[in-house]
Amino acid sequence: MPLPKAELHLHIEGTLEPELAFELAARNGVELPYADTEELRKAYLFDDLQSFLNLYYSLMRVLRTEDDFAALADAYLTRAAAQGVRHAEIFFDPQAHIARGVPIGTVVEGLWRALSTSEERHGISTRLILCFLRDESAESALLTLEAARPYLDRITGVGLDSAEVGHPPAKFREVYEAAAALGLRRVAHAGEEGPPAYITEALDVLGVERVDHGLRALEDPDLVARLVRDRIPLTLCPLSNVRLRAIDTLEEHPLRAMMDAGLLCTVNSDDPAYFGGYVDDTFHAVREALELDRERLRELARNSFLAAFLEDEEGRRAGYLAEVSAYDFNTE
Ligand SMILES: [Zn+2]
Repeated sequence: MPLPKAELHLHIEGTLEPELAFELAARNGVELPYADTEELRKAYLFDDLQSFLNLYYSLMRVLRTEDDFAALADAYLTRAAAQGVRHAEIFFDPQAHIARGVPIGTVVEGLWRALSTSEERHGISTRLILCFLRDESAESALLTLEAARPYLDRITGVGLDSAEVGHPPAKFREVYEAAAALGLRRVAHAGEEGPPAYITEALDVLGVERVDHGLRALEDPDLVARLVRDRIPLTLCPLSNVRLRAIDTLEEHPLRAMMDAGLLCTVNSDDPAYFGGYVDDTFHAVREALELDRERLRELARNSFLAAFLEDEEGRRAGYLAEVSAYDFNTE
């Protein structure tokens, strides 16, 4: 039995495995430029952010109907359950689907079908977080939030993702203010490849409660002091950082140093179909590479539940934390 944990940084479109991609392509009559799943799996071995994003957006073409989005989310939840995930906060990118003629309602209703039965079927509680693409305009983000209005009872918060450099958080001030006024929680990718100043800006201008990645936080001691003081969680994705060349090797990952500095770190899988592992695989990889002992791993699992948006269900959070405390590593 794997260590119980929450996954807080997971793009549902990044869970599309080659087998499901081919199945959906056949169902929807979409032509894929790969002979078979083996050839497609080789294409998953891209070598930089742009080649990853090209494949990521190109494969999304197979997702057309509510059934497709339900199948995608259900496949992720099935895998996540086997990785010890008890709670998942799942990102989706509506603009990437709207741009190719798939309405946001199709996306949300499809995902919701899987999420709303996740507890009975997989033992996983869920939240849905709508992400704006930061390389699109601020106006496009506002239109997306407007389009999401009929579905806000299914959406817990908003986030900000895609290519970071050149797209500072302040560009999205207005849409984050609007999201806050609607009662939505706020997170944003910051300090992945962008500078630590983007993390500060995401806190100051966007009012984020949690920082996605925050990998470069240690470069700014004042920022570290603030993140520690205010207990702002960071959702780190070590395998993603290596695959996208933010760092060269897992052994060089700052996770251990960040934990030593008192930061509230969590470990997540980001786009697991593309980055070589789901969340428990990531826990195992950092344990090896950074020589983390069992209590460090338990701390990471505890942090994941402390950082989760479970304020409306504190009893559930307490239950998950008790599972972590009681976990026996000998049953792994
Ligand atoms: Zn991400």
